[in-house]
Amino acid sequence: MSENTFMERERALKVKGEYDVLVAGGGTAGVVAAIAAARNGANTILVERYGFLGGTMINGACSLHSYFNVYKPFPGVERKQLVKGIPSEIVDRMIEAGGCLGNIEQVRGYGYDTVITPIDHEVFKAVIVKMMEESGVKLLLHTLMVDTITEGDTVKGIIIESKSGREAILAKTVIDTTGDGDVAFRAGAECIGELQPYNVGLSFSMANVNIEKAAAFFEENGALTQLAYADKGSVKDNIARFVGQIENIDKFKGYMQKIGMMRALMTYSLHRGDLTYINSVAVSPLAELTAEEMTRAEVQVRHQLSQIVEFIKTHIPGFQDAYVSWTGNQIGIRRTRVIDCEYDITANDVENGSRFEDEIALYGFHDMGPRRNVNKGGYYGIPYRALLPKKIENLLVAGRMITSDWTAHMSTRNVVSCMAQGQAVGTAAALCSKLDISPGKLNVKTLQETLIKDGVYLEK
Ligand SMILES: Cc1cc2nc3c(=O)[nH]c(=O)nc-3n(C[C@H](O)[C@H](O)[C@H](O)COP(=O)(O)OP(=O)(O)OC[C@H]3O[C@@H](n4cnc5c(N)ncnc54)[C@H](O)[C@@H]3O)c2cc1C
Repeated sequence: MSENTFMERERALKVKGEYDVLVAGGGTAGVVAAIAAARNGANTILVERYGFLGGTMINGACSLHSYFNVYKPFPGVERKQLVKGIPSEIVDRMIEAGGCLGNIEQVRGYGYDTVITPIDHEVFKAVIVKMMEESGVKLLLHTLMVDTITEGDTVKGIIIESKSGREAILAKTVIDTTGDGDVAFRAGAECIGELQPYNVGLSFSMANVNIEKAAAFFEENGALTQLAYADKGSVKDNIARFVGQIENIDKFKGYMQKIGMMRALMTYSLHRGDLTYINSVAVSPLAELTAEEMTRAEVQVRHQLSQIVEFIKTHIPGFQDAYVSWTGNQIGIRRTRVIDCEYDITANDVENGSRFEDEIALYGFHDMGPRRNVNKGGYYGIPYRALLPKKIENLLVAGRMITSDWTAHMSTRNVVSCMAQGQAVGTAAALCSKLDISPGKLNVKTLQETLIKDGVYLEK
């Protein structure tokens, strides 16, 4: 023991259970992975650190980009639903539960995203729990994955910490959907790629907003860059999305730079007078993935949020009587560790619409639109190899931890892509545990056939 280290005592850990498939992280990709694995016959456990499921998707990203191609700016290109299967079933269930207005076409700003699908974060929490129960997933909430159990480069399970103490769970196949690659990293996988500017945000909701008035203000000032309508059950208020490009209004420019906020008031609304989602907070990226840096960002976003709210209540008509009704449960981080996988999706793949023999999903949205659309309204394939960490056996990864190229990541990290990847890794893991093989040995044709049988669109 030195001054700066402490030797933890050795102890025997209770093995809490043995499963065919273990999914670590019950966020965007993880919930879909768990459902897919269980439906394909695997005895599946989902481990999540919080008391709810959904991760970043319901803590700052509830306008789901996108099940469709960005076709509208390209005459002659047809509207195509690229992501179906479980991610699409979730939308149907959300509509049924009153927590989604459906797939909405933008009337303005459709060069960024033509069809968006806004969901209600609170309704999602109930819907997804029902779907877990129906598919037979064993849920373990309030549980942090802290380490891996490995034999050489083969993952055999994970070590968890919770109010029950420190325990172990064993599994034939493990899926890392922690967003940060916690499992892959602890198992010894390589991390690659650079950080993203404006990496960290905090989305929030405001109630009692006169949305028509706010949108009209941006329109009058030449700053209304995105707009979509939907039936919210109100004759007065049918605006489902508006983006007010504050930076286009000269008198506000200096202020925004001073507090470092994002250029726009990016919003969507599911209920009359309620801005369900406002995405405007932006602070500098984490220099490293540590509690100190996360704390620094957490404190900064809270300060910035107060400043933004004061600013919009004072300067933007329609917000005078509004109040903050919800904030994300923690900072939203767009990019931390990226795991080195058998294939690394490139900006060229995204922008030129690369297709792959082993593709397990198709995707057509790029967060850099309208400047950098995917292949003129087309789409690209996500290869199975992009979900296979190099060197590590019995492990699959999905979500924002793939794709080292920042420009390409601006596409692959979006919610609907993460969910589509989730269905692929969940299905693959179930097949692998049945065949008793590592994911690298799986016959991709079998995986593709199973995905198609389960409703995934693969254009085969
Ligand atoms: C501010 C912000 C706004 C965004 N806006 C949009 C948008 O409008 N539309 C869009 O499509 N995308 C948007 N994105 C991107 C998108 O939301 C994310 O990239 C995507 O949701 C990531 O999904 P994931 O499954 O990789 O991770 P997550 O959804 O974050 O899931 C990770 C899960 O793992 C859990 N976890 C983490 N570590 C552990 C551990 N050690 N043990 C147990 N559990 C653990 C977490 O609690 C979480 O539930 C936004 C992102 C941010 C940050």
